[in-house]
Amino acid sequence: KGPNMNMPPCATLTICGMRLRITYSNLLKRSRRVGILILRYLKILIIWAKMKIILLGPPGAGKGTIAKLLAERRNLKHISKGDLLRQAVANGTDLGLKAKSFMDSGKLVPDDLIIGMIEAKLKKEKINDFEFDGFPRTIAQADSLAKISSIDKVINLTDSDEVIVQRLSGRRTCRKCGAIFHVKNMPPKKAGFCDQCKAELFQREDDKEEAIRERLKVYKKQTSPLIDYYKKKKLLVEINAELRAEVVLENVLKSLVGV
Ligand code: AMP
Repeated sequence: KGPNMNMPPCATLTICGMRLRITYSNLLKRSRRVGILILRYLKILIIWAKMKIILLGPPGAGKGTIAKLLAERRNLKHISKGDLLRQAVANGTDLGLKAKSFMDSGKLVPDDLIIGMIEAKLKKEKINDFEFDGFPRTIAQADSLAKISSIDKVINLTDSDEVIVQRLSGRRTCRKCGAIFHVKNMPPKKAGFCDQCKAELFQREDDKEEAIRERLKVYKKQTSPLIDYYKKKKLLVEINAELRAEVVLENVLKSLVGV
C-alpha cells in the first residue's frame, strides 16, 4: 500500500524548493523496514556467533589459506587436520610415528587414528565453534563427526587438477615458522630462505609431483563422495577456488549469510 495521502501530514519539509509531505503512515512504514533490517542483522550475528563449518576440496585448493582468513573474520577456531598431524610427526609422538609414512606417500592416515584425535581435541578444549580444514576426509570420518557434533555449512572449494599440481609443486615451506611461499606466484626475496625468520625453505615430501598425483587420486576415491553425502543433507555450497584468495573469501562469506 502506498502512503495514505488523505492522512494529515505530521511534518512538511521544504528542500531546494520542493515540499515533502511526511505522513504518519509513511513514518510507520519506514520504521517497520528499519525494524526488519535490525532483526535480520541480529539473526546473522546470532548465527555467526556459533558456526560449525567444514571446508572440503582437493589438496591444494587453498583450504588452509581460506580457513585462516575466515577464522580471523568470523572468530572461529581453525582446526587443520594436516597441521595437527605434521605437529605430531615433528614432536615424534606415537601417533606421529604411525602417521608419517602415510603422509609422505600422499595416502590417508587410517580413520581410527584420525577420529580418536579429533574427538579428544573437541572434548579436551571444549570447542563449540569451529571450521575444519582437511577433516572429514572419508565417509567413516563424517559419520563419526555427526555423532559428536552438528554442522552448519560445508564449503566445497573447487579447482582443476592442473592448477593444483602447479600450485602445490611450487610450494615451499619455512622449516622454522611454517610460512608458505611459491617459487613462481609468491617467491621469497632471497631464493630458498624465509622472508620473516630467514630460516631455510623446504619442499614437503607430499608436495612432490608424484605424491600430489597420488593425493588427487586418493581425494577422488575417498573424499569426493563426501560432496554427495553433504549435498543430501542440504549443507553443501560450491565455491570456485581458482580466483584470488580475497575474492574466494568474499564468496564464502556471502554463502554463509542467512544460513
Ligand atoms: P593436508 O595438509 O590437509 O593436505 O594433509 C596432509 C596429509 O595428512 C594428507 O595427505 C594425509 O596423509 C594426512 N591427513 C590430513 N587430514 C587427514 C584426514 N582427515 N584423514 C586421513 N589423513 C589425513
